[in-house]
Amino acid sequence: MKKFLLGTNWKMNKTLAEATKYTDELITVIEKHAQLEIFIIPSYTHLWKIKELIDTKKSALKLGAQNMHYEDAGQFTGEISPVMLKEIGLDIIELGHCERRQYFNETDETVNLKTLAALKHGFIPLICIGEKAEDKSYNVSKEMLAKQLKIALTNVSRDAIGKFWIAYEPVWAIGVNGIPAETPYVKEIHDFLRSVLVDLYGTAGKDVPLLFGGSVNINNASDYAQLENVDGLFIGRSAWEPDLFDEIMVAVGKVVK
Ligand code: PEP
Repeated sequence: MKKFLLGTNWKMNKTLAEATKYTDELITVIEKHAQLEIFIIPSYTHLWKIKELIDTKKSALKLGAQNMHYEDAGQFTGEISPVMLKEIGLDIIELGHCERRQYFNETDETVNLKTLAALKHGFIPLICIGEKAEDKSYNVSKEMLAKQLKIALTNVSRDAIGKFWIAYEPVWAIGVNGIPAETPYVKEIHDFLRSVLVDLYGTAGKDVPLLFGGSVNINNASDYAQLENVDGLFIGRSAWEPDLFDEIMVAVGKVVK
């Protein structure tokens, strides 16, 4: 059964104690939602402990990191390598989040190098793309998104289909100042992204999971989840408490097949 993807990036939030408590509660919550693939993306420092918890409880909860360097080792002070993350046994590496692009000089080219490295090491790269408000105002959203997507997937072969996920997150919709996207707009863009993937990979492009993110909350999650080319939702603030995340799981669970 192809599960609907539902996950949360915690950004730079939660102490280890808070992270452990959250994960413990979430592990119980997700048992009720077998049709959903749930994942969490905490800070690096919490990953070992959380992975131990997941394994001890034999939970299906998937775990990811928020970034990664593309080299296995080297003179890159402050960076974390794929080899180090592999030791933990992670499932997912989030790449190219707009905050990394905005504050840490992440580019389409580095996202591509990291995507290739993540695939080489057996992780699922969760590649984030999104247009800025300015792009939308000039009506060049699709051009910007196609560029981000095509550069991120350069040299990613058809064999990798199903092993990477794409998250479309309009920059103007993300975070405390974000404006939730209208459902028809999300539909238009996801249909467009699907067409780009089909151009790149033929019919296999239909099997690339496409997630939507940006101010997803209890009021809009099920509307987005019903769209044909939305295979998952990527959530920030509204999933940072297990009971609120559970409410979204219940709402989404009612509409996905
Ligand atoms: C995000 O930062 O990727 C995100 C989706 O955040 P929020 O849901 O809080 O807008």
